[in-house]
Amino acid sequence: MAKISINLKDGTAKKEDTLIVGIDLGTTNSLVAYMLDNKPVAVKGQDNTNTLVPSIIHFLPNGKKLVGDDAKAKLIDDPANTIYSVKRLMGKSYKDLSSHSEYLGYEVIDDDTESLVKIRVNDIFYTPVELSANILTALKLRVEKELNQIVSKAVITVPAYFNDAQRQATRDAGKLAGLDVLRIVNEPTAASLAYGLGQKADSSNLIAVYDLGGGTFDISILQIQDGIFEVLSTNGDTFLGGDDIDRLLMDYWLKINGRDKQDFIKEKKKLQELRLLAEKAKKVLSSNLLFKESFDGMNCQIAREVFDNLISPLVSRTLDSCKIALNDAGKTVKDIQHVVMVGGSTRVPYIKKSVSQFFDQPLYDSLDPDEVVALGAAIQADILAGNQKEMLLLDITPLSLGIETVGGLMDAIIPRNSKVPSRAARQYTTSVDGQVNLKVAVYQGERDQIADNRRLGEFVLKGIPPMPAGLPKIEIIFAIDADGILKVTAKELRSGVEQEIEIKSQYGISEEDMARMLMDSITNAEADLKVRSLLEARNEANNVLLSTQKFLQQNDQILSGEEKKTTLALANALKATVDGANKDLINKAMADLNEYTAPIAHRAMDVHVANAMRGTKLGEKEE
Ligand code: AMP
Repeated sequence: MAKISINLKDGTAKKEDTLIVGIDLGTTNSLVAYMLDNKPVAVKGQDNTNTLVPSIIHFLPNGKKLVGDDAKAKLIDDPANTIYSVKRLMGKSYKDLSSHSEYLGYEVIDDDTESLVKIRVNDIFYTPVELSANILTALKLRVEKELNQIVSKAVITVPAYFNDAQRQATRDAGKLAGLDVLRIVNEPTAASLAYGLGQKADSSNLIAVYDLGGGTFDISILQIQDGIFEVLSTNGDTFLGGDDIDRLLMDYWLKINGRDKQDFIKEKKKLQELRLLAEKAKKVLSSNLLFKESFDGMNCQIAREVFDNLISPLVSRTLDSCKIALNDAGKTVKDIQHVVMVGGSTRVPYIKKSVSQFFDQPLYDSLDPDEVVALGAAIQADILAGNQKEMLLLDITPLSLGIETVGGLMDAIIPRNSKVPSRAARQYTTSVDGQVNLKVAVYQGERDQIADNRRLGEFVLKGIPPMPAGLPKIEIIFAIDADGILKVTAKELRSGVEQEIEIKSQYGISEEDMARMLMDSITNAEADLKVRSLLEARNEANNVLLSTQKFLQQNDQILSGEEKKTTLALANALKATVDGANKDLINKAMADLNEYTAPIAHRAMDVHVANAMRGTKLGEKEE
């Protein structure tokens, strides 16, 4: 229920609970936006000009923290105590990023490779969630100051490829900052919303969102149908962005001035200054044809045309990603109806021209490319607050989700590329008589054997009433909510015993891993199928052997000596094949046994029925 509080000074009412802000928690910069007179606005800082809060945290010797521009200023002088690019670490284990941690100026701790990374500053360990919470707190304070009211609800954006662990981590960071995170929204979806795309209920559109920031490149292909957003595919490069353009420019100047980069690398401060000059030149060239300055005796000059040539290979790489994303979505350039530009680097005219040429159409680039995601998040927040017609935001699951079944096989319950939110249920039973517990182990991946997939978590359904094997009806439900967070429930339907977990994976899957797992599943499909059919044959054979044993015990008095002998011999023949690797032999032995026992089983059943009708049970002595 919405609460209304009255400002006692001026008597105005404030609907505190209906205000939901939109937050873009970025790798380089973050910002917060809200709806003002039906229009999203990004909140400026104290200087009243800049809406961007650098996603940087600096730890002072007294333990206090600086966030944003003040922290950025410390990046050169005190890198060990200044944390940037935290977003790259969200929901990741050390193993996930070991190859990249050397690029970070601060210390990333690896205490055991499967656990989530921590960052050490002055002998205190911080998680990426805590550090992100610091940035979120700064944004919360910024908007509270602007609006002069408490803000406790937010929508936060994440890249479309963020997995469950990364989304959870983002949500947790919000919680830690005192924010109730009502929705995690994909950045490309937010950017499209900012341009009003998909807001007409009857519209159907295909959108490409090209996002080139400071350090990352993402291309997403979205489909909007009846107000529902669906991410068809994503591609990109987590280490490609404006920083690389700056580096290219620095190298160019060093080269034309005949300077050795190695000399500069020793002088860290000078190198940083040159980097800043390169960034300045890049920005100047976005609106001028020439940049000219001198630095440390060097002629730092460059014309737009030369600059364009310099960055051309980098731009080509982004367009290659676009081709892959289109292909993955099963679409061509001709299908794309809108192209949305996001990220500070899309201000470069050559990039705009190249992307427009590639997609053969004009671009959506009128909004500030640094603000567009936060503006869209504010619109989404407004929709959630009930101020606009409700729109569902759909995503897809990047990998299949399922559970371990007998023999270490993966049983996919929600297949890869399923729409989110999504719910699927499947029934299972026990394999042992009197089984009272059932382990539910949840996995993510495309391979047939769980050993080749990634374990997300597990729990035990306890308190199943003892029943013969095969009798309990256990329903396993997988539900992914609109934020892509998975909840698994197991319920024994006869007794109502129920257990559920929200999957908080130990660590997330890196994009490289995700790609590798998909590739593996394709290259190993044939081998997997072989292994799977062998394991299935073995499982079935074990079940048949178990029920044969029971059959012999229960029908001892009905079966003739010859029947018992032959059944036992056929069962032993089957047993001999089970551990072998030939599924055909197993299936053949199983068929032989079944063929022989089927008529005897019918006869035994008739005897049981006749006895039951006489009111006696087999084994009881007839008087
Ligand atoms: P983002 O990560 O989206 O904040 O993007 C920041 C990147 O955009 C940095 O690499 C900036 O240098 C770059 N950038 C900002 N303004 C401009 C501009 N006018 N021209 C070219 N690049 C820019």
